[in-house]
Amino acid sequence: MVFHGPGDLRREELPVPAPAAGELVLRIDAALTCGTDVKTLRRGHPVMIPKVPTVFGHEFAGTVAAVGPGVSAFREGDRVVAANSAPCGACASCRAGRPNLCEDLLFVNGAYGEFIALPPRLVSRNVVPLAASLAAERAAFAEPLACALLAIERARVESGQTVVVFGHGPLGCLLGMLAASRQARVVMVGKSGWRFDRLKQLGFARWLDATAAGNIVEEVRGATAGRGADVAVDATGRPEVWEQAVDSVGRGGSVVFFGGCAPGTSIRLDTRRTHYEELTLLGAFHHTPEMIRRAVQALESGAVVPDSLISHRMRLEEVGRALDLMAKGEALKVLIES
Ligand SMILES: [Zn+2]
Ligand SMILES: [Zn+2]
Repeated sequence: MVFHGPGDLRREELPVPAPAAGELVLRIDAALTCGTDVKTLRRGHPVMIPKVPTVFGHEFAGTVAAVGPGVSAFREGDRVVAANSAPCGACASCRAGRPNLCEDLLFVNGAYGEFIALPPRLVSRNVVPLAASLAAERAAFAEPLACALLAIERARVESGQTVVVFGHGPLGCLLGMLAASRQARVVMVGKSGWRFDRLKQLGFARWLDATAAGNIVEEVRGATAGRGADVAVDATGRPEVWEQAVDSVGRGGSVVFFGGCAPGTSIRLDTRRTHYEELTLLGAFHHTPEMIRRAVQALESGAVVPDSLISHRMRLEEVGRALDLMAKGEALKVLIES
């Protein structure tokens, strides 16, 4: 599937790529749709897709089909996950140990295809072998799970804490699952509808319906014996919800701004609370090679079982329809099987 620009996704026959020096070519075993793909299809994406036309899709697991000259870490037939980006390792952010903020992140697309070529930098930094027991459709969650893991790490979520997650999209649910895997008590805040009803079965401590609550912050405080949450995570990307997240934590609480808001927006901040209650406000963006590896471990160990986030299974030629369902809010994640 080739992206030619906003609203223009085409099915094309391309030659199977041959690996150049340092490259791998994978046969894609499973790919997942993502809200980012929907956004990109609507309006393009200056960072992930700097030029068009380009192959499309970024969450996948596959099997090594061909190994380029000079690659010794992988062999034909290895099952792997590849992240959708690789940091440079040399810029100031990379040297400071924050490769998710790399000033020269190299993005790779092409999950919606039969084969994908991985460039040398990705092969050397961000391709992870899979245990035979880990199914490709679970392994394909490694990329979004790594983003969620970075946020949970930044907030230092611990056993016994109450973590409130605003937004019950697939990433909100992955954030909740990771917090629950650390024995935190998870309060999910969502909006009523079929997704809310379906996901309620995920078994978090509480589900709060933001559409039914007069004041969702009061509801969260009610669910935490009046104290407020230890950690609040926004996974909606809406400024008014960022504010609710800040208002929902108690003394010493941490707030993670995980959902990206529209450019130019801002929020109000209670300076008194932020200072005297020592609030910690954190951004969390993208993932690091370490988080990709640890996400694969979490999937292999069963600490996170994401199967319930797949609402549909479709063939490669149906990607357009899958993204359409996502755009209409009628799908969680669609598994694309070739
Ligand atoms: Zn994604
Ligand atoms: Zn860098």
